[in-house]
Amino acid sequence: MKDIRIAIDGPASSGKSTVAKIIAKDLGYTYLDTGAMYRCATYLALKNKLTEENVSLILEELAKHPISFSRDTSGNQLVYLGDTDVTLAIRQNDITNNVSWVSALPEIREELVAQQRRIAEGGAIIMDGRDIGTVVLPDAELKIFLVASVDERAERRFKENKEKGIPTDLETLKEEIAARDYKDSHRKVSPLKAAEDAITFDTTGISIEGVVTFIEEKANKIIDKG
Ligand code: C5P
Repeated sequence: MKDIRIAIDGPASSGKSTVAKIIAKDLGYTYLDTGAMYRCATYLALKNKLTEENVSLILEELAKHPISFSRDTSGNQLVYLGDTDVTLAIRQNDITNNVSWVSALPEIREELVAQQRRIAEGGAIIMDGRDIGTVVLPDAELKIFLVASVDERAERRFKENKEKGIPTDLETLKEEIAARDYKDSHRKVSPLKAAEDAITFDTTGISIEGVVTFIEEKANKIIDKG
């Protein structure tokens, strides 16, 4: 048995974090939600009214309020900036609609990628994001690229938002998801794309359990071989 690193990439609401959390629990691995880290940087930028021109100030804010993760009593992920719980705040629409410009800033990516690599050093990790297989962990033993139609992803996010009490309109959500896909895939630095050695899996019409089983079978084969 060996500990491996699993990279799960894909566009917004393709089910990455849902399946990554389940797999992490099943395998006893650490889960790292890298999207939450870019959302934290965006939260600090908006809170302090900073723009692309103020990237060094965003970095200063990140240094002053380090990102950390913990769990509530039910095992749900909590996200902190310094001592402040920002779990819900970073899921609000203003953050979602601004995260693409913040995550396109090379200096922000450099800092967050360095943090992500430090967290991954111990192995036994499953990370989800946009550039995990291509940039953050190019040597990951298993790379999965999840895709799904815009309609299905919008419906998933709509349900999630409803459960979290975040008001949303389905049609607006579709437009926003398509716009975020475009921006994430066309930025200069670390654009969203499948690594050459990634397994692309279309989750349209497939249950969460179906996706989890698919990935766990692949992971267990590699783990057992080690
Ligand atoms: O996964 P989530 O939707 O929370 O990610 C929010 C945003 O963070 C993405 O739209 C993308 O702009 C950015 N991101 C990124 N690289 C990652 C993870 C997320 O650029 N590894």
